[in-house]
Amino acid sequence: MFDSIKKIFSTETENASPVYGDKPDIIREKSAELYERAKNYFPGGVNSPVRAFKSVYGTPLFIEKGDGSRLWDADGNEFIDFCGSWGPLILGHNHPKIREKVIEVMQNGMSFGAPTALENELAELIIKNNKYIEKIRFTSSGTEAVMSAIRLARGVTKRDKIIKFEGCYHGHTDALLVKAGSGLVTFGETSSAGIPKAYADETIVVSLNDKEAVKAAFEQFKEQIACVIIEPVPANNGLLLQNQDFLEFLREICDQNCSLLIFDEVISGFRVGFEGAAGFYNIKPDIITYGKIIGGGLPVGAYGASNGIMSNISPEGGVYQAGTLSGNPVAMAAGIAQLTELLKSGFYKEMNQKTLEFTDSIQRYATSKSYKFKVFQIGSIFWFAFTEKEKIQTSEDIDASSMEKFKMMHRELLNRGIYLGPSGYEVGFVSAAHSKIDLEKAKRAIFESLDIVFKNR
Ligand SMILES: *Cc1c(COP(=O)(O)O)cnc(C)c1O
Repeated sequence: MFDSIKKIFSTETENASPVYGDKPDIIREKSAELYERAKNYFPGGVNSPVRAFKSVYGTPLFIEKGDGSRLWDADGNEFIDFCGSWGPLILGHNHPKIREKVIEVMQNGMSFGAPTALENELAELIIKNNKYIEKIRFTSSGTEAVMSAIRLARGVTKRDKIIKFEGCYHGHTDALLVKAGSGLVTFGETSSAGIPKAYADETIVVSLNDKEAVKAAFEQFKEQIACVIIEPVPANNGLLLQNQDFLEFLREICDQNCSLLIFDEVISGFRVGFEGAAGFYNIKPDIITYGKIIGGGLPVGAYGASNGIMSNISPEGGVYQAGTLSGNPVAMAAGIAQLTELLKSGFYKEMNQKTLEFTDSIQRYATSKSYKFKVFQIGSIFWFAFTEKEKIQTSEDIDASSMEKFKMMHRELLNRGIYLGPSGYEVGFVSAAHSKIDLEKAKRAIFESLDIVFKNR
């Protein structure tokens, strides 16, 4: 595998003269060794599939340490990190305020399965600063939060069917691992083995940015739709930024049909602003799900809604949902420390500005060289797309063959000390820990990598 990929790359660049001098591939001996061992223990050698580096060059890097904007792997390679543990690390790695709070709380024990004041504290921080939810329930992952939000929507409306959008990811529960069939409005097809067809039949999958398809679904399944669920900032399959009026249309059509609107803000929550995409677009969903940033790097998810809707959750209401480690004190501590920093005045303004300058100058460089390359950006989220299109708003707009170019770029960036998530479908994140110097260094590496990718156009 390793060698055959190496061969492909070396023949591709055989005749081309080096642009910025030959950057040798980073040494991955220790990582490769750890990966070999991991394969004995875990399917595919990993505990979450994308970590296996299947769509980029080489074996996965095993990480030893993170600090601020930086990561170090088992071979001692240093990287400026733009993956941020897939979004949670908005303050960068190993932030002292989070670390200190976690250590302080851990002195008193790590789990009680009984209420603690820390849960109140995190809930207060969120609810007092977010006009879109009145009550919240903590879970241990984003997947769990979304699963519970769907059950809540079904429990409240006493309807079974849900509408989701092709290209939005909502975690790995059965109801949501469903992709579009053919046709405008279709019952989904399961996108994983092991999901009963009957579950997929309750999930209607439509294209993003397609009002007609949503209308048709509501007409075809009158009074059967419990909810529409969307990532208001779809960021799990590229960055498919939607028009404000499409999100407003979803709000209206849900109201007209007495269906609930769920914003899955596991990525966008506390990222595009403290109030997430709901605040960014000024649209009030009925239920919001959170994850990632909310736990400061520890496993936390949450869902929130109005008092009325949340009163349906057990033990107050009939919708059951529980968790042995829900509201875990150590995880709450990390969330409290992180969100406290985010609430400081000017936090988002500064980070969003910094990201915009970064992505703008990358775009300017690519445009000046006539590279077919676009950087999409919102808040501190960005996505590199090898495309000529001005907008990419649906997953059908993504050209799968362009991922070969990403693969090359990913390798060149690793060789220049820049770490992106190992797939061209994944977005990147700027954190508060990225300094001007980090971003300058990253820009230079990106320019060089683009030159190499487009050298043999
Ligand atoms: C990451 C993510 C999830 C799943 O969260 P996990 O913590 O990985 O279970 C759900 N929805 C969205 C939008 C996500 O980005």
